[in-house]
Amino acid sequence: MSQFWSDLVHRLTPYVPGEQPKMDKLVKLNTNESPYGPSPLAIAAVAAAAGNDLRRYPDPNADALKRTLADYHGLAPDQVFVGNGSDEVLAHAFAGLLKHDAPLLFPDITYSFYPVYCGLYDVAFRAVPLDAQFGIDLDDYTGAAGAIIFPNPNAPTGCLLPTADIARLLDAQAGIPVLVDEAYIDYGGDSAVALIARHPNLLVTRTFSKSRALAGLRVGYALGHPALIEGLERIKNSFNSYPLGRPAQAGAIASVADEAHFRSSCAKVIATREALRAALTGLGFEVPPSAANFIFARHPAHAGADLAAALRARAIIVRHFRQPRIEDFLRITIGTDEECRQLVDALKAIV
Ligand SMILES: *Cc1c(COP(=O)(O)O)cnc(C)c1O
Repeated sequence: MSQFWSDLVHRLTPYVPGEQPKMDKLVKLNTNESPYGPSPLAIAAVAAAAGNDLRRYPDPNADALKRTLADYHGLAPDQVFVGNGSDEVLAHAFAGLLKHDAPLLFPDITYSFYPVYCGLYDVAFRAVPLDAQFGIDLDDYTGAAGAIIFPNPNAPTGCLLPTADIARLLDAQAGIPVLVDEAYIDYGGDSAVALIARHPNLLVTRTFSKSRALAGLRVGYALGHPALIEGLERIKNSFNSYPLGRPAQAGAIASVADEAHFRSSCAKVIATREALRAALTGLGFEVPPSAANFIFARHPAHAGADLAAALRARAIIVRHFRQPRIEDFLRITIGTDEECRQLVDALKAIV
């Protein structure tokens, strides 16, 4: 890279997203997208927004979307922040809310974008080891810290924390911000949003990319006390006034209006997840319980990299992380029943 760039840019270790292959006919189970597609109402709203109005800037404050999300969650509009995917919302939080002299704490095995943002925004952090069952022991998070972030359920493990434990942590760490990343909460977990009223140090992030099948639209949001939201708005308005285009705002609003589509998609994914877990357990895999739209699985007799390569040779793509402790695991996105049947058939042949 050119020497014209700063030392900081030279030092970055960028996030590597799961691949989006350009080939057809793949069974793509690597990036936790929904197999069922967005609400038809959302598709229609996006199409309707693709007109002459595109010559105009969108609402910089996305007021209609914020009102929709506030109503949906039983909050006020000033408790809602929206951004270009929850990754952007997280980036703003790392830039200003999670950056302190004392280190930010997050699990050693978690969403691999967190340490990347720490590099970009120069955030001191400490990765706290998960326990032997890949659980987060919140007692590890009650010591000196500048801030805390974890996904619930965690990724890529699928492990869920009860909200009662999160409430205890919020009390024990009332003096620092705690961010709960609920990218996968719609697949069976209880949300921490109910704790916002009593805990001004809690920020919850959500995304339309997984359970609402709108990864291609790039919409995410945060919920919290108005004073936390205000800081995110200050950062956003110092960065990009228009993070959400007109089609994104319209599509997101319509998606929230279609509760039936949302609920039935989540229910199908959950049912398929449990069936897949049982099938893989039957093949000798170790598969911890998951509250997400993926499972995390290891076979005692096969290396993770070998399994991923053998699946790829059969046009099935899953996610494999070359990282200590989890290098023998595959993170498998829950697809349709048919896709999961193809996966099980392939693994049967491989193991
Ligand atoms: C997918 C994911 C996100 C990012 O979602 P986008 O809204 O698509 O940016 C954030 N956190 C976790 C844990 C995720 O898995």
